Amino acid sequence: MRALGNDVLDFVVDFIEARATAPAVDLDHPLPADAHDVIDYVKHAAAKAADPAGPGYLAYIPGGGLYTAALADFITAAVNRYTTVAALAPAFVAIEQQAIRWIADLFDYPPTAQGILTTGGSMANFSAIVTAREARNTRSGGGTIFVDDQTHHSVTKAAGLAGFPSDAIRVVPTDAALRLDVDALEDAIKNDKQPAIIVASAGTTNTGTVDDLDAAADVAQRHGLWFHVDAAYGGFFQLTERGRQRLHGIERADSITLDPHKGMFLPYGTGCLIVRDGNALRRAHSAGAEYLQDLPDVGLPNFAEYSPELSRAFRGLRVWLPLQMHGPDAFRQALDEKLDLARHAYDRLQATELFELPWSPELSVVAFHHPDGRRILDDVNRSGRVFLSSTTIRGRHTLRIAILSHRTHQDRVDEAVDLLEKAASEWRSE
Ligand SMILES: *Cc1c(COP(=O)(O)O)cnc(C)c1O
Repeated sequence: MRALGNDVLDFVVDFIEARATAPAVDLDHPLPADAHDVIDYVKHAAAKAADPAGPGYLAYIPGGGLYTAALADFITAAVNRYTTVAALAPAFVAIEQQAIRWIADLFDYPPTAQGILTTGGSMANFSAIVTAREARNTRSGGGTIFVDDQTHHSVTKAAGLAGFPSDAIRVVPTDAALRLDVDALEDAIKNDKQPAIIVASAGTTNTGTVDDLDAAADVAQRHGLWFHVDAAYGGFFQLTERGRQRLHGIERADSITLDPHKGMFLPYGTGCLIVRDGNALRRAHSAGAEYLQDLPDVGLPNFAEYSPELSRAFRGLRVWLPLQMHGPDAFRQALDEKLDLARHAYDRLQATELFELPWSPELSVVAFHHPDGRRILDDVNRSGRVFLSSTTIRGRHTLRIAILSHRTHQDRVDEAVDLLEKAASEWRSE
């Protein structure tokens, strides 16, 4: 066991050390013909990939993978405690509950709040919609969900899974800044027979735009609707002073989706939903099971009653251990750095006068246009040094730089801007 473990440890530490110089994407990586040496085969398979936590990954929303979280997962898998029912592993459940409570505290949620660690933002949005549906008692009678044209597609997917027909989803327009148009929202609600749920974004995936959450909360309050905020991408910027200002009003949400596998740099499979009224989350997800009748109440949540899952991965340790080992300040500083880097990229791109930059970055995504954006994207990505992705906004091809890997620092952002500038100048000189 020790020898195998040492092999794995060597592989992992070498892998992490290689991130600084590894290509941003390496899909041509050759695999050994057979898997004779298993660890060696895994090593090669791991290399044949895009590198979402590498310094050059500026596409989509970058991922994480802190070493301390990997250690937590190793422990979790090796000891394999059953954290679904609190009485069977109360100390581990207390650890997960502490991690959830730390997140709830970030948003000034009351002691009656409760959350759940999910596999990601999509499942958090799903449980949020189900919770709102139960709380608004709209199961049989329908009810309308209000989203906007920049809402993440997982919200409409969640609504469908939760049984809302597609005509129960009303898409409200966004304003020139790509923010939910709150006046249009209010009009749409007034013209609706059964308004039920408002979904706003704290950091859209396209541009990192944060809706006017205070204004949306006012509308929700005025009409007695459930107010959900999808903060999967942007939520943890709440740790920073600038983020807290931009996310102002989020603390009034009935429920918030977060993705620790984005803003806390944790490995994939770590999402979170927090719900202001913990009982609402429980009512929507609990169902009696006679064979659990012997288990005493240990004063901790039975997570099965708050989630669609029964048996579940213990995700608590991979959130809790890095927080304990690095401290919240390390996360705050890293996120502050990402905000600075986005501002820096925006300023530099602006100074080239080669790109059209309609939106100044609110968080860590910079979106911009160029008439030959598709070719520029190919040129830049061919370098292997950075990996960018594009999107379409209001029918226009849009390039983006999304900065969220804990390994991305100014040198690589500067390199990305240099590559973009070079590709765009070449286009212009033709
Ligand atoms: C990433 C993201 C999601 C989906 O989260 P997954 O963890 O990929 O399931 C939902 N909403 C927003 C705003 C996101 O950025």
